[in-house]
Amino acid sequence: MTGSGTDRSKAGLSLEGPVVILVEPQLGENIGMAARAMGNFALTRLRIVNPRDGWPNVSARRAAAGADHILERVELFDTVEQAVADLDLLFATSARAHDQAKPVVGPEAATTEIAGHIASGGKAGILFGRERWGLTNEEVALANRIVTFPVNPGFASLNLAQAVLLVGYEWFKQMTRGGLPHGMPERSERASQHQIQAFFENLVRELDKVEFLRPAEKRDTMLVNLRNIFTRMEPTKQDMHTLHGVVMAIAEGRKGPAKGGVLDGEQATRLRALLAEHGQGAPPESGMVRGLARLLRRNPTDAERLLWQALTRDRRFAGQFKRQTPVGRHIPDFVSFVHRIAIELSNVGESETILIDRAARRAWLEARDYRVIEMQAADVERDLAAELERLQAMVSQSGSVS
Ligand code: SAH
Repeated sequence: MTGSGTDRSKAGLSLEGPVVILVEPQLGENIGMAARAMGNFALTRLRIVNPRDGWPNVSARRAAAGADHILERVELFDTVEQAVADLDLLFATSARAHDQAKPVVGPEAATTEIAGHIASGGKAGILFGRERWGLTNEEVALANRIVTFPVNPGFASLNLAQAVLLVGYEWFKQMTRGGLPHGMPERSERASQHQIQAFFENLVRELDKVEFLRPAEKRDTMLVNLRNIFTRMEPTKQDMHTLHGVVMAIAEGRKGPAKGGVLDGEQATRLRALLAEHGQGAPPESGMVRGLARLLRRNPTDAERLLWQALTRDRRFAGQFKRQTPVGRHIPDFVSFVHRIAIELSNVGESETILIDRAARRAWLEARDYRVIEMQAADVERDLAAELERLQAMVSQSGSVS
């Protein structure tokens, strides 16, 4: 789909429609815009009587904005009579009263009649006049009916192409029964009464805890009003999940800094230590190591999350670091295989086990030519830029090392 709203993957509609006849149009731009309007409403047959500036016309082509298929099939005529000779139902559009004994109809009635006429095998056409003075009385006299638009009588004259557009619009609306080419995208499934009820009970329970539904004699009305807010919005299942989450988050209060879901930093490190001990002799990259790495990745602490965001977004590091990825049986917090750098995040007041584990991991890594940079979680949270500077300094040394 292009930005213009034209969906070239969809075959253009082709409907058998009336012939549009422009009588001595003066401006190429208007011819082009008329063709464009025709294309918008699936009209294809354009006839032109004596275009003032000749044919083909560059301005027309430009203004057609892609309705080339219509311009290429334009039929040219020297006189209006020739242009309408094969038609058996003819309308003349005009803003003016022509004082002729001829029915005057609106665009809707005209297109209804045209649709019926074409459906029964007839050929219909619509005349449009010159920009300067419209259609002559003689030209109007050729037509079976006059079409005039419901407009401001004090300012009734439309631009030629806009007049074509209005007729096209009415005709197309009729043929497609007003069907629209696109609508609101399908949302997730509607929430069931049961789901709304469960959410509502939960909400009321929380509101009761803070004595929101007071005074007691207003409680029932308040509940009805409140419930109506949710029924009126016709929520989806997803809406209900979200609202439930929101209510519970507000009710339960701030969770404190992310400790990393199920594992806090300390637990994570103890697990690693255990793994290092028990993993002796286990093949590197064993299932256990990978499983733990996955667990750690899913449980980032605040500092880890911050640093990871920076490492992925900062152009100096993007794509060069991995998070909680096993190196042998060890899992540094971050590692860059290109630079052979490991980043360790540490917390103040870490326990003995943790310190020992970290030291062991560091020794193991350094024995294998990794450089290890240690960062305090608190520093990362307080002054990330400075920590990144330190890292950058280390990274830029790597070129000279190898
Ligand atoms: N000055 C001209 C208006 C020309 S506008 C006049 O007095 O007639 C170019 C063409 O657009 C008209 O000839 C007619 O075909 C169409 N048109 C413009 N306004 C219209 C309206 N209010 N109702 C029907 N057709 C209209």
